[in-house]
Amino acid sequence: MATETFEFQVEARQLLQMVIHSIYSNKDVFLRELISNASDALDKLRLAALRDEAAGADVSDLHIELVTDPESRTLTVRDNGIGMSYDEVIHLIGTIANSGTAKFVKELQEAKDAGAAEGLIGQFGVGFYSSFMVADEVVLVTRRAGETEGTRWSSTGEGSYTLERLDEAPQGTSVTLKLRPADTEDQLHDYAAPWQIRQIVKKYSDFITWPIRMAVPAGGEEQAEGGEQAEPETLNSMKALWARSRDEVSDEEYHELYKHLSHDWTEPLETIRLQAEGTFEYQALLFVPSRAPHDMFTRDYQRGIQLYVKRVFVMDDCEALMPPYLRFVKGVVDAADLSLNVSREILQQDRQIQLMRRRLAKKVLSTVKDLMAGDADKYAVFWREFGRVLKEGLLSDGENRETILAVSSFASTHDDEKPTTLREYMERMKEGQEHVYYLTGDSRQAIENSPHMEAFRAKGIEVLLLTDPVDELWVEAVPEFDGKQLRSVAKGEIDLDGSDDQTPEAEGEREKRQQEFAGLLGWMTEQLGEEVKEVRLSTRLTVSPACVVSDTFDATPALQAMYKAMGQ
Ligand code: ADP
Ligand code: MG
Repeated sequence: MATETFEFQVEARQLLQMVIHSIYSNKDVFLRELISNASDALDKLRLAALRDEAAGADVSDLHIELVTDPESRTLTVRDNGIGMSYDEVIHLIGTIANSGTAKFVKELQEAKDAGAAEGLIGQFGVGFYSSFMVADEVVLVTRRAGETEGTRWSSTGEGSYTLERLDEAPQGTSVTLKLRPADTEDQLHDYAAPWQIRQIVKKYSDFITWPIRMAVPAGGEEQAEGGEQAEPETLNSMKALWARSRDEVSDEEYHELYKHLSHDWTEPLETIRLQAEGTFEYQALLFVPSRAPHDMFTRDYQRGIQLYVKRVFVMDDCEALMPPYLRFVKGVVDAADLSLNVSREILQQDRQIQLMRRRLAKKVLSTVKDLMAGDADKYAVFWREFGRVLKEGLLSDGENRETILAVSSFASTHDDEKPTTLREYMERMKEGQEHVYYLTGDSRQAIENSPHMEAFRAKGIEVLLLTDPVDELWVEAVPEFDGKQLRSVAKGEIDLDGSDDQTPEAEGEREKRQQEFAGLLGWMTEQLGEEVKEVRLSTRLTVSPACVVSDTFDATPALQAMYKAMGQ
């Protein structure tokens, strides 16, 4: 049949250019990526079959197969999973749909040097395209399970790819790499050598729950020329890591599972294990990444919890298992007593699932608490990357509010660089200081220049500087922490020098000043008319002549702007 040539989408082409020319030092990871895709394809097919949605598919011996050919210098990764239709190949392989990826490609292009680009590639992961780190041509042959027609895709990764419809093709997908010439200096990069493939699979993909087979010539690799019958060898142990005991599994193995789940190439910041026994049994293996995903604040952000039922993959992006403010957490939850047919709607309503979600959320928060107490550097990374999201929980998770406040940090006038916790703030509070003071705004600088800050600066009273958009919202919802009220320095009556001093002298003094300025205040009230509620004398200013103040329970100007933007 006719072969058609297609252009890669612009972002895809740019990304491929980066990959081809990258000096990403750990090229081995391309194999992890291909095996990961094959494993996903097998998961999808098994699930479809279990749900009776895979008419005509063969699910009798689902597996992954690796074929090396040192002679022609090719490596093939084959699976008999779900496969792709012609159109799916165009959409899934030829384009980049994810908005986060487009942004990442832009960053990549702006990267100053190869090292910076490599760092970015490592943080992001490039999936299927990583094949082009080691191959100068890639051929993918696929047939969607249940369909009759297949598709052949091939590309050198330059600007275009070709597609051809095939009358016949095996079910699933095979990816064949024409390997770049081996670097003779560098034996480590010979991906046509079975012993190397075996090592790489062991290292990166051991936990994959499908057999990864490789045909190895009988009598050892050295005698391959003899043309003896090849024996398939299963390279991986196939043990689900979350079902194994802690001391059996190395950190590296956990990290590889994380990379498989998250499509991230960087190590996670923290690994969390949880086993629940009793009437509703489940195991959870959760990861806190070391970097916030690019698209965490976009609508199409995919949450990172996969649901399994007794080792069988059931669902990606399982939002019922983690509250939105912990959406950066990746991992696996394997529940024993759920139906494989369970739907998202059922999960949202299931009481056991709700209990599980609460338990998982508490466990993540207690892990953050432990980091805070035991590893200041890691905690600092955590807060920098995820603090903004975590604070959403102050609004949505009343039950854990105290804990979230306790593990939160805030910029403060106390230190230009280092954020402070509320606890630390309270330890520094001045004798007689009743409240925890804060001011919200667009940036630290804008806040520090605010006239509201003058009296606080003059008196040396610490103020928290809240600049995240979510800060405007939670400060309204959180009245106090550990018995101390949180008070905006821009709101209501601020009493910094004991002006609620009830002695007759103080009263008299206030009275006198009030009379002295009565004319001016009256005139101003008249001039400003509807614009203001009241004009009064202030103790909060030292330099500026006047400032605008809201009532304690009024929305701040920024919050009013936000409501307006939301159409309220
Ligand atoms: P990711 O795995 O992060 O989605 P990839 O670049 O690795 O990104 O793959 C892109 C998409 O191509 C996958 O999401 C999947 O839909 C499809 N795909 C890749 N390999 C296979 C395969 N072996 N079988 C079926 N679909 C595949
Ligand atoms: Mg992938």
